[in-house]
Amino acid sequence: MPADSCSLEPAAAGRLAVIGGCMFAGKTARLIERLSAARAAGRRVVACKHRLDTRYDPTLLMTHDGRSFPAAAVTGAAGVLRVAIGAEVLGIDEGQFFGRALVGVCRELRAQGCMVIVAGIDHDAWGQPFPPLPQLLRLADEVEHLSAPCTVCGRPAAYSQRMVPVVGGQMVGGPGDYEPRCAEHFRPLPPPAPVYEQ
Ligand SMILES: [Zn+2]
Repeated sequence: MPADSCSLEPAAAGRLAVIGGCMFAGKTARLIERLSAARAAGRRVVACKHRLDTRYDPTLLMTHDGRSFPAAAVTGAAGVLRVAIGAEVLGIDEGQFFGRALVGVCRELRAQGCMVIVAGIDHDAWGQPFPPLPQLLRLADEVEHLSAPCTVCGRPAAYSQRMVPVVGGQMVGGPGDYEPRCAEHFRPLPPPAPVYEQ
């Protein structure tokens, strides 16, 4: 074990909460709700999102139905650490854009006493576990799993069905590009599926 491994253990006040699920499950809305409540309680709250996510305003967390919370646009997990300085509560939207490096960042911030809340998609368009959500879920002090109704049968959906062809590797999309689907009605994208770093 490295000599500084004790610094990675969670402090009493530090917590990691993960809000997982498929697209359109209300994950960002739930994140905004939690961040707004913390801000109203007088906590120092910072929210961030990845620069890759340009679907809406780059300086706002936004739900598909228009609710918002101010956010810093960062490039990668290292950028999260920079904007988190001084935050008591840190919200990270679309955690799947940050890759495995986000896991270490969340551990470090929790160890510093920060309440870290990550929202993200837990299965990719091939139906595979979508890093770093599975890893974060294992580490989390609390987990909220949200779902949307399957667009075919209305049962709870765990998967995000790609509805349009993938052009140039661009996977980011919104309404019209994806639909929530249950396991029975989910049709994964054809191979090859991405191989994620372990
Ligand atoms: Zn279904």
